[in-house]
Amino acid sequence: MDLRSIIKTLSQDEKAELVRLLRQDLNVPRIDIIWSAINRDQMILCPHCNSNDIYGHGVYKGRKRYKCKACKKTFNDFTGTAIAGIKKTNEFQEYLSLVVESVTIRKASSIIGVNVKTIFDWRHKLLSSLALVNGQAFSGIVECDDKQLDINNKGDRNLDRKPYKRPSDRETRRGVSNDKVSVMVATDRNGNPTMQVAKIGRVDADSIEKTIGGLIGSENVLCSDAHPSIIAWAKGKQLEHHTFVASRQHIKDKCYHVQHVNSIDNLYERWVKRFYGVSTKYLSQYLNWFVFLEKVKKSSTQTLDLAKNVAVNAKAINTYRSIEDRYSDLGFPQLSKT
Ligand SMILES: [Zn+2]
Repeated sequence: MDLRSIIKTLSQDEKAELVRLLRQDLNVPRIDIIWSAINRDQMILCPHCNSNDIYGHGVYKGRKRYKCKACKKTFNDFTGTAIAGIKKTNEFQEYLSLVVESVTIRKASSIIGVNVKTIFDWRHKLLSSLALVNGQAFSGIVECDDKQLDINNKGDRNLDRKPYKRPSDRETRRGVSNDKVSVMVATDRNGNPTMQVAKIGRVDADSIEKTIGGLIGSENVLCSDAHPSIIAWAKGKQLEHHTFVASRQHIKDKCYHVQHVNSIDNLYERWVKRFYGVSTKYLSQYLNWFVFLEKVKKSSTQTLDLAKNVAVNAKAINTYRSIEDRYSDLGFPQLSKT
């Protein structure tokens, strides 16, 4: 029996299934990738109050426990992180590599052998770990743009209006209506993009400040289209700002242009297609995902990169729990229609 030629006939899914069955059969211990991603040199901080005044507090279920002198609470290496409270830790860690491959929930469920609802929960815990990756300070020239996406209530049972029955029920105006959600997209020239949900309707100086204001300073130079709100915001922050009229005057002085941010925009559109519509409630999570993948696209250790983000983010569970609140804070207009 030539195993090699048999393997060649298998699909990618079948190969993944084979690996899983062999691991089970041979009882191969899985690499504890999140555990190995913990940086032992880093100072341990209390995940409840950030104090570093902590001491060892025994071992519980094979994990070292700590106690904080300041707030008296106990914790372990994973308290507050995406892996806290996960029972199927092996399968959860197996799922990391599927997140890196942007695999859909249904497919992941069949590869790992865990139900769809659990994978959905894991996905959003993992993506919450990436909130810090999506929003790091810029250096040098920064390009920004706003992007409008249709509001999508997929899977949302708490609609404050009746679902649309026909397209004509939508109150659409020309261009951007209140039925769009605005996303701020920005990137510097060092492969540090960010995409942040801004608000329902058009962006204004306030929502621009809230999304990218903390990432940019007087040492940066801003390039964008001639959006009045971006102009007003940049002026308020006293930024050096170069604007471009779409389809004209694409490049000023060779270095001032918006080609990088346009490219991020196009790459996002291409990537997000595989999910067949993203619910607005989870949009920020998908943006975290996409930005992370963009940042690690040249890395040869992407799964470990993801594991590191999971291991260090002790606020991930808080971020995960606030999805609902952040969604209702988006500023949906009160729709008083019959
Ligand atoms: Zn504490």
